[in-house]
Amino acid sequence: MALDVAAAAAWMHDFAGVIDENAELLTDLDREIGDADHGFNMDRGMKAVAALDPSAFAKGGDYLKKAGMTLVSTVGGASGPLYGTFFLRVGGAWADDMDAAGLGKALRAGLDGIVQRGKASVGEKTMVDALSPALDAYDAHAGEGVAAALAAAAQACAAGRDATIPLIAHKGRASYLGERSAGHQDPGATSVTMLIEAASRNLA
Ligand code: ADP
Ligand code: MG
Repeated sequence: MALDVAAAAAWMHDFAGVIDENAELLTDLDREIGDADHGFNMDRGMKAVAALDPSAFAKGGDYLKKAGMTLVSTVGGASGPLYGTFFLRVGGAWADDMDAAGLGKALRAGLDGIVQRGKASVGEKTMVDALSPALDAYDAHAGEGVAAALAAAAQACAAGRDATIPLIAHKGRASYLGERSAGHQDPGATSVTMLIEAASRNLA
């Protein structure tokens, strides 16, 4: 399957557009349990990624690694290094002609990077609560092909995002609120669901 620079760039451009449209929503969610900057942070970072010239990269993985470095250097807060690490790891495991299992492995390398860096486990009210079940669903459906696997991943990601609402945060700024963090949807789980939905639209 052709997952070349054009495919990787289509994924990033779609995600950048969705982040632009939803920057206010993400910032509003972060206002409830954080410091009201998640949408602004991600929008600045993804605009810088969208400004990269795809023709400067020979392989999809090189483009995604550059996207990761761009996010590390332009996005502040917790989410910059976490998203940056995700794309650096995904890019490192990327091949321009992967099958469904290969793409699953690349995405999981990204999740592993987030977990190594942020030390969050499932249930601590972070982006991991959406991304982890998403990649489990991907693996469970990888035998049916990339389109089915990514569709299942997007659905599980959204369910994981919604399931953050009642949780008490144990990582990041939201954890400072303790029990008062319950009843609010996690901003990072919300943006990462947009990322996996964009993958489903562009990589299948
Ligand atoms: P900051 O919290 O520094 O202002 P952002 O507002 O951009 O950064 O991002 C907040 C999001 O980052 C949270 O909603 C959560 O999903 C995610 N996050 C915070 N800490 C961690 C962590 N240790 N591991 C995984 N995700 C985290
Ligand atoms: Mg914030």
